[in-house]
Amino acid sequence: MKTQISSLKEYNTFGIDVLANNFNKAQNEDEIFNFIKKNQNTPFILGGGSNILFKNNILKPILKIEIKGIEIIDENEDYVFISVGAGENWNDFVKWTLVKNYGGIENLSLIPGNVGSAPIQNIGAYGVELKDVFHSCRAISVKEKILKIFNKKQCNFTYRSSIFKEKLKNKYIISRVTFKLSKSNHVINSEYKPLKDLLQNRGNLNPTIQDISKLVIEIRTSKLPDPKKIGNCGSFFKNPIISSLKFKKLFKEYDTIPNYKISENKFKIPAAWLIEECGFKGKIEGNTGTHKKHALVIINKGGATGEEIYNFSQKIKKSVLKKFNILLEEEVNIFE
Ligand SMILES: Cc1cc2nc3c(=O)[nH]c(=O)nc-3n(C[C@H](O)[C@H](O)[C@H](O)COP(=O)(O)OP(=O)(O)OC[C@H]3O[C@@H](n4cnc5c(N)ncnc54)[C@H](O)[C@@H]3O)c2cc1C
Repeated sequence: MKTQISSLKEYNTFGIDVLANNFNKAQNEDEIFNFIKKNQNTPFILGGGSNILFKNNILKPILKIEIKGIEIIDENEDYVFISVGAGENWNDFVKWTLVKNYGGIENLSLIPGNVGSAPIQNIGAYGVELKDVFHSCRAISVKEKILKIFNKKQCNFTYRSSIFKEKLKNKYIISRVTFKLSKSNHVINSEYKPLKDLLQNRGNLNPTIQDISKLVIEIRTSKLPDPKKIGNCGSFFKNPIISSLKFKKLFKEYDTIPNYKISENKFKIPAAWLIEECGFKGKIEGNTGTHKKHALVIINKGGATGEEIYNFSQKIKKSVLKKFNILLEEEVNIFE
């Protein structure tokens, strides 16, 4: 359904005021098919706009996915299989699972955006990733105009990525996602340090999934800016993964460098630490800058253009490359 809108300011959490002249919404799969039949060129697919930086006005046709519905499609003694419309708000779905006492996504509480976008970058937080609970998704090929079901293996999930962010970028439109959640004997993921520390402080040695969600919300609200108040897209860059050889070299020079060993030859380094070491934590330039509590979060102080935010992000990238010889990769999708 084509809608008359001009500014996309309300449709992206950076709050960038760009213009669009061909804005459409789909509330079911038929509407997606109708849209792609009329718009042969790769359209731009929009969810909640919480992982996008618009640099310019959008000349391409935009399709905002608004497919709703949460449906239990199968269950056994231990698990429930739930099919969720791509346009459902992610956090509303998390809350729904907690009321029903279904376990698996409590650590992903309060992540902005929609259910259909969650597989695109394999959303993750506090020791859990979407892939841990993903069963399958329905997606429509823009070119072939057919519906395909992707299972977990076919999605090639990796850290903050999937086949939909790489080989099949912009080629498929996800319409529904099916999750496999636990009904009882929930696996509690409380190993992530800030969560573990908070549980210990509160003397909670046997947390429920609802407790985990509450604490995750508490930690997130204490350190991440609310996009309704300060425009942002969460982490702007991914945490870089470097070889153990490179890590050893860096460690000689910077022995306080935080790190997570992810395999024999690979280490993950917090991008926030690298950025902070380059003097960018809380640094403001014009209408943009990094958040005072979190160097990885680039903010729109008000009235920033996409170009301004982009240029600032590239300045950070150059600085980290120069100091550490590490090339940061954007987590946010830059839209030219
Ligand atoms: C304050 C804040 C905190 C955040 N914290 C986290 C976090 O802890 N962990 C994390 O992983 N992310 C985090 N994010 C990033 C963001 O919330 C997620 O990436 C989220 O999944 C994006 O959803 P969205 O609906 O807003 O996607 P959008 O920004 O609308 O789109 C993102 C990308 O997916 C594509 N897309 C969207 N919907 C579809 C669809 N149905 N089919 C095909 N392609 C589609 C778009 O074209 C675009 O390329 C955070 C963001 C903010 C603002």
